[in-house]
Amino acid sequence: MVHEHSAAELPHYNLYIDGEWRPATSDQTFTVYDPANGQPLATCASATTNDVDRAVMAARTAFDHGPWPHTSPAQRAEILHAIADALEARNFELAEIESRDAGVPLRKTTYNDITLGLEILRGCAELARKHPYEPLPWNELPTVSWNFVWREPIGVCAQIIPWNYAFCMAAWKLGPALATGNTVVFKPSSLAPLSTLAIFQTIHELNLLPKGVVNLVLGPGGEVGEYLVAHPAVDKVAFTGSTEVGRKIMALAAQHVKRVTLELGGKNAMLILPDADLDLVVDGVLWGAFYHSGQLCEAGSRLLVPHTLHDTLVDRLVERVRGMRIGDPMDLETDIGPLISERQREKVERYIAIGREEGATVVVGGGRPLGEAFSHGHYIEPTIFTGVRPEMRIAQEEIFGPVLSVIAYNDIGEAIRIANNSIYGLAASVWSRDLQHALTVARRIRAGTVWINEHHVLNPYAPFGGYRQSGFGREMGRYGLDEYTEIKHIHVDLMQRRQGRLWWDTLLPE
Ligand code: NAP
Ligand code: MG
Repeated sequence: MVHEHSAAELPHYNLYIDGEWRPATSDQTFTVYDPANGQPLATCASATTNDVDRAVMAARTAFDHGPWPHTSPAQRAEILHAIADALEARNFELAEIESRDAGVPLRKTTYNDITLGLEILRGCAELARKHPYEPLPWNELPTVSWNFVWREPIGVCAQIIPWNYAFCMAAWKLGPALATGNTVVFKPSSLAPLSTLAIFQTIHELNLLPKGVVNLVLGPGGEVGEYLVAHPAVDKVAFTGSTEVGRKIMALAAQHVKRVTLELGGKNAMLILPDADLDLVVDGVLWGAFYHSGQLCEAGSRLLVPHTLHDTLVDRLVERVRGMRIGDPMDLETDIGPLISERQREKVERYIAIGREEGATVVVGGGRPLGEAFSHGHYIEPTIFTGVRPEMRIAQEEIFGPVLSVIAYNDIGEAIRIANNSIYGLAASVWSRDLQHALTVARRIRAGTVWINEHHVLNPYAPFGGYRQSGFGREMGRYGLDEYTEIKHIHVDLMQRRQGRLWWDTLLPE
């Protein structure tokens, strides 16, 4: 049972293993909170290593002995479409779950997150139909043969996601893994597991997947996550989260030479060219920097502005930031909700203090909003720093909050150097009226996604992922599916006779 009510009248969630909701093998639980007011929302069973073993073995058995890896791509596509349809019927409920659990404004979850997540599942279904077969060029060496690539599932995939964008993140991990015939053990973040639980609930009720194909474990990343990643029966690890944990995961996976894809942090530049349309830029920068309070890996956290535009642009941004509505994520008027946790708010405040110590200037924000409405949530004002130099920590380190660092530049060569002066390389945006010039600049930026006159917009058919320490491997689109496949070359001899073979020339036949 998923939805028991505990003594405290909170919903309680169990683990999902081998097609059943099961309690953990210990009594340990953890509580999930609403970051807007600190109220508990639910309790969850915390998995033990025994539970992780059971989940991995269920996925192993479903892969090694079950029908799933051998179902046709068309059948898998149908199931993914059915899952997307069933989730779509819960659209508004899912948006509310995500907003409460992660503190994301309801406008964002309603109009973006759920829609995008569903689009991604459907995109994977469509790609799955065409995916496994790839013809190779004709070859007559040494004789005529037919050669092609056959894509096969990797096996048991451990998938770990963070708390931000959880619904989408779950869709873009489960979608490609299932489309290509893998089995899964999934671990959401303990800070916001509820939308993932809703997806598993829907999958369970639909009852279209063979048992053991998808499994869900819950609990702290440092224990449950690490044990899962290191498990010898896991074939692939797909991780989204911080660069720090990503490094650890890569090391753990090395032991059994597991396949690994990592989607990690970012310190993404928004590069304004001198001819940019400033009305568009003001909107775009607010969107890039403060969407979901900047708690997005691809958030624009560095603003590179030509000296000539600096003061005008900063004045306009400050004025607009003062008008942004901070408040309850469940209110459709809210622009900025709370941060995910007290720990995250303290981290952001530490960085604001560091920026001041480094000599940068807070021109707007910088503190906690005042008033009773904010007293129990992890709120922080949207904050802009000017006078930032590229080597400062607030220009180099990922803050993961509503803090924008403005850096002035002299010429475009310098701007590109500053944009690329980072250990990260996830995303960037370039703003200009001259598309040709913008394209030239876009091609010189070392990042996995570059938007021109846009930011944040993910495309279910476009690869998303990082250069450098933002990770490797891509999610979404064909490249995303490829990460869940082994590549098999099949060679079929078409001559069907002894003459002309390589062996005829090199080994003497009798
Ligand atoms: P995090 O601390 O790295 O946690 C991410 C996930 O990993 C959570 O499920 C966490 O579980 C688990 N985890 C933690 N330690 C682990 C370990 N030692 N072994 C295995 N799993 C472990 O990141 P976060 O603070 O939740 O998320 C924010 C970070 O994610 C930011 O750095 C952001 O840039 C990055 N991010 C990247 C992308 C991208 O696509 N590139 C997208 C979104 C976010 P618990 O939370 O339950 O402990
Ligand atoms: Mg939460």
